[in-house]
Amino acid sequence: MTSTFNSPCGSDCRDNGPDDHSLIQGYRAQNPRLSAGALSAARHFLKWAKAQGIVHKDINATAIDRFARHRCRCGRYSPNQLRHPVYMTDVRRFLRYLEIEKIVAIPAGVERLDQYLAAFSVRLRAIGYSNTVYAGRLSQARHFAEWALQSRIPSYEIDEVTIERFSRHQCRCGIRTKRGKRVAGSGTADRRRGAGCFVDFLREQGVIQPAVRADDTEADPRLNRFWAVDARRTRYNS
Ligand SMILES: [Zn+2]
Ligand SMILES: [Zn+2]
Repeated sequence: MTSTFNSPCGSDCRDNGPDDHSLIQGYRAQNPRLSAGALSAARHFLKWAKAQGIVHKDINATAIDRFARHRCRCGRYSPNQLRHPVYMTDVRRFLRYLEIEKIVAIPAGVERLDQYLAAFSVRLRAIGYSNTVYAGRLSQARHFAEWALQSRIPSYEIDEVTIERFSRHQCRCGIRTKRGKRVAGSGTADRRRGAGCFVDFLREQGVIQPAVRADDTEADPRLNRFWAVDARRTRYNS
């Protein structure tokens, strides 16, 4: 990859200009427990993005993937850092901040599905899951919302294929990992089950199009997974 600007970075990250500096200051102010390493990763990313001519509003997961592969000649930063999963998780966490603050532009049609998590949690409670199952479903729903946002998937395109892609994705979402590794309860089947329930709920709410199945002649297929999971909850609760 050829950098737009080949001049080496100085030793002071603040040469990125006041905008980048302000961003980091805001990030730190809102996340006072961030490690020095996480802040350094965010600074490194902004320095690289600036050299590439990527303006803030255009920062997205694709840009971060490019950053992960760049041949680092950014002065104080090291290529070895990029190979560390925790480092890249920190960069993706910074993208989440930029999304939340509306600093990056979200394409039309891509919804922030996390706005429905509170209502989804009420629904899960009403079904009567154990605390463990409840926490697992909600956690995977949050993960799905994050993944769909970072993948820039319009809500009207979400279907069973999307759920399958999610269940098998190599997680680099900035959440759901601990020190760069999967945490318990985040296996492929857990993801599929959690995302499936959340998608069913979103269909029920009219946020996502109903599932279209040519061979489905039974009653409303949108609720199948909820009821199927509900019927098995005794087993899951045990
Ligand atoms: Zn670099
Ligand atoms: Zn993920």
